[in-house]
Amino acid sequence: GKQPPAAHVVLLASPGAGHVLPMAELARRVVAHGEFTATLVTYANFSSAGHGFPSALMATLPPSVSAAVLPEVPLDDLPADARIETRILTVVERSLPNLRDLLASSSPPGGGGGGGVAAFVPDIFGAWALELSAELGVPGYVFCTTNLMALHSLLHAPELDRTTTCEFRDLPEPVRLPGCVPLRGADLVDPLQDRADPAYHFLVDLAKRYLLADGFIVNTFDAMEHEAIAAFETLSRDGVYPPAYAVGPFARTCSSGGQKAEHGCLRWLDEQPDRSVLYVCFGSGGTLSTEQMAELAAGLEASGHKFLWVVRFPSDKDRSASFFGGGHGHSDDPLSYLPEGFVKRTRGVGLAVAEWAPQVEVLSHRAVGGFVSHCGWNSTLEAVAAGVPMLAWPLYAEQRVNAVMLAERVGLALRPRGDNDDGVVTREEVAAAVTELMVGEKGAAAREKARELREAAAEAWALDGTSRKAFEAVAGEWKKAAAVRSRGAS
Ligand code: UDP
Repeated sequence: GKQPPAAHVVLLASPGAGHVLPMAELARRVVAHGEFTATLVTYANFSSAGHGFPSALMATLPPSVSAAVLPEVPLDDLPADARIETRILTVVERSLPNLRDLLASSSPPGGGGGGGVAAFVPDIFGAWALELSAELGVPGYVFCTTNLMALHSLLHAPELDRTTTCEFRDLPEPVRLPGCVPLRGADLVDPLQDRADPAYHFLVDLAKRYLLADGFIVNTFDAMEHEAIAAFETLSRDGVYPPAYAVGPFARTCSSGGQKAEHGCLRWLDEQPDRSVLYVCFGSGGTLSTEQMAELAAGLEASGHKFLWVVRFPSDKDRSASFFGGGHGHSDDPLSYLPEGFVKRTRGVGLAVAEWAPQVEVLSHRAVGGFVSHCGWNSTLEAVAAGVPMLAWPLYAEQRVNAVMLAERVGLALRPRGDNDDGVVTREEVAAAVTELMVGEKGAAAREKARELREAAAEAWALDGTSRKAFEAVAGEWKKAAAVRSRGAS
């Protein structure tokens, strides 16, 4: 007889670098496992925004990962101020018919619908499409591109929605989830903060759909979230939630943004002393107000520490304005929004680069000693991989959840303001926090923690490591399902 074909896994990444990049890493590991082929599905919507993703990225994937792009769907009926979550989930919803065709056509001749697919793996937004895999009888596993505590808080949203009437930021008591740091209502994910916004309802609905999953593949690891992982295990054993597999950290080992030539900021870093430079970057979407940008600049300058700052166009309306290429439409340079004379005065001490830096290489450069971050989960894992401590500056999405966890439990980050992220962070606060991180005692403790985590992360993927074993367990489930289905088909 013929060799049985490798089981096929369909991975679905929703728009945004923070989703596409880790999904590509997952695809790499799925095929490296040796028994699977994979299709990495992305959306044409928004793919031209951002920084050459995902086409440049696809070129770096092994041949056993094929690419499929869902055609662009119209979004012109959305209001101009629609939140990013609303935009992404509208794309996912409107693309369901195309995705159904794609999943069904992956079936072998004569097989049932979707018969050739061993598993469907959407990310946290793509999970909106779990109804399709349920319909086609394909196992569905949500790849959680953030941590387990953030996932858990999202899973809890439908209950909060049902049992309370006020805005979550006005909840009198913190939300206490098993194994997790208590979360003030104001620290819950950003799109849940306004019940009148369509994004709120999208997210509550999405959380309900998560229950259709056969499991969660979470980009976290034991040393980062031991208590949360243990508590979630109990909940899923009791049938409350599908099981979670902590398979991380998947951090990229190089920035594959398509820029071939080495970025000038790396050459600048080569000239700086060890651990002397503070790297400042707010992910792919983070955006500051004009006033905040000026205060941050003045604070960096006043601190006297060296810095490398990825500067974006400011926006007074939207803290995630850069997400879909907020810079597009500007013909000028984001650096021109810096305070008068800033670049000149800080020459030699600081370097401001426009829009984008090769972050993985920057963080792992010996000259970098601290990271001012919006606490996006990929950025956090990249900091861990490099052993660099953070200053938490959450802006949108689940970043406050991450900041609370990193500052209050893990100890990887300092939070300049404690739990008060509202309002403008003044130049004095910036300067004090930067100094504490770079040369203070708390900064030293966070640096020590970062080093510990870096080692633990490496161990998690060593032979017999917790994350590798969790990954093997998922692969085992997929193979079992594929075997059952191929028996059923013949
Ligand atoms: N990134 C980068 N250069 C930049 C900004 C971001 O390479 O100037 C990458 C970063 O390394 C990370 C991703 O973009 O892998 C951002 O993901 P994250 O989850 O941190 O934040 P998001 O952009 O989703 O808010």
